[in-house]
Amino acid sequence: MVGEKVWRDLHQIPLRLSGGSNDNHVELLISTRILVPADLDELQVVVSENIAAEDDDSTLYQVIHPSSYCQLGCNYCGQVHSKGTMSPEVQRSLESQIAHKLEQQRYRHLTVSWFGGEPLLGLKAIQAISPRLLNLCKSLKKGYNARVVTNGLLLTNDVALELQDEHKVDFVEVTLDGDEASHDKRRHTKSQGGTFRAIFANLASIRNNADISFRLRIRCNVDRSNADAVPLLIEEMHRHGFHERFEFYVAPIHSWGNDAHLTSLDANEFAKLEVDWMTEMYDRGFRVSLLPQRKKIVCMAARRDATVTSADGKQYNCTEVAQVPVYEVSGLYNIGSTQAGASSNRRFPLQAFPAEVGDGKHQCSSCEILPVCGGSCPKQWADGVVPCPPIKRNLPQKLLLWHVIQQLERGKESGVAGAVEV
Ligand code: SF4
Ligand code: SF4
Repeated sequence: MVGEKVWRDLHQIPLRLSGGSNDNHVELLISTRILVPADLDELQVVVSENIAAEDDDSTLYQVIHPSSYCQLGCNYCGQVHSKGTMSPEVQRSLESQIAHKLEQQRYRHLTVSWFGGEPLLGLKAIQAISPRLLNLCKSLKKGYNARVVTNGLLLTNDVALELQDEHKVDFVEVTLDGDEASHDKRRHTKSQGGTFRAIFANLASIRNNADISFRLRIRCNVDRSNADAVPLLIEEMHRHGFHERFEFYVAPIHSWGNDAHLTSLDANEFAKLEVDWMTEMYDRGFRVSLLPQRKKIVCMAARRDATVTSADGKQYNCTEVAQVPVYEVSGLYNIGSTQAGASSNRRFPLQAFPAEVGDGKHQCSSCEILPVCGGSCPKQWADGVVPCPPIKRNLPQKLLLWHVIQQLERGKESGVAGAVEV
């Protein structure tokens, strides 16, 4: 509720929001729906928009594990890896399931996310499945794109070019957990060998290859043991020009069906450090994403036919559960298999999350950032973990940093470097 003084100030104090012009703030705040009538039920408006977005979603999203193995033995990984790739039988049953889903009128596009295990260990399976899915989409007149989440060890120039040109990959995510010493302590091979140098060399070579244009994002998983290494990594990446080509973000370690969360940073500490890292990134020329966007679909768990298929053909509606023993035993998120089909009833606990928020069943129902957060992670709520992202705690600092950056950028454009008003 806007108090009398704030209301008066909004009308009286001219704030320069853009290009030095004085905007009418009340109108601006109304048009951006920051200011709404006191009797509007905002929660129901937000939740019904979210549910409508899921109903209208015209992209079929499929996560596929071409390999059940990974060369790495990361300290915090909850998966158990066995050697194997997706068999031709599983490939065929998965493809006919996808064809059946795509034939529905509602879908205009197929997005495949190659995931794992380490997906590039299953490159042969990708080479078999991807052209058939591309042909299927062509014959049904549907759009197609793909993405890869990889540890980066096998992401050579040739593989990157093949992924882009043959398999229509337009987004790749690679993880580096700090500088070499820190990364190698955490993301080593199963026999404890270092991996930083090989991954970094692959990235440097992609950065210098003008023929490779897919979006590439580097993720740094952080807990108490490597928080100090984030600035070192930013510095190292800057030295190699990664800021001109790649995106970068830091993610907090959480439980992956294991005890990994026991080493996590306290949420307030992470939120504070994240603003420091973003300031460092800006100083080093990286793009910094500070303003949150409206988030209507919380994640794949809320999408009607989205499925994770592991290399053995089992299917799930969440990316964090395949090959994780605790979930394999409970079967909680297993929704079927390529051979038997996936049951929509089994999707229910996670898929019901947005409606539950509307019914006031989670803290999200009274959270002021629900429109831009969406509720973060239905599975963590179901597991009894509060998954609020850092922005819950550091939005004011991020807005302030955004404002400072705007002023600095305007100063650069006008050639006048001066004091920044805050
Ligand atoms: S439920 Fe949580 S872990 Fe699962 S896909 Fe959604 S956001 Fe990810
Ligand atoms: S910040 Fe936390 S409480 Fe708020 S919407 Fe996100 S997950 Fe829910």
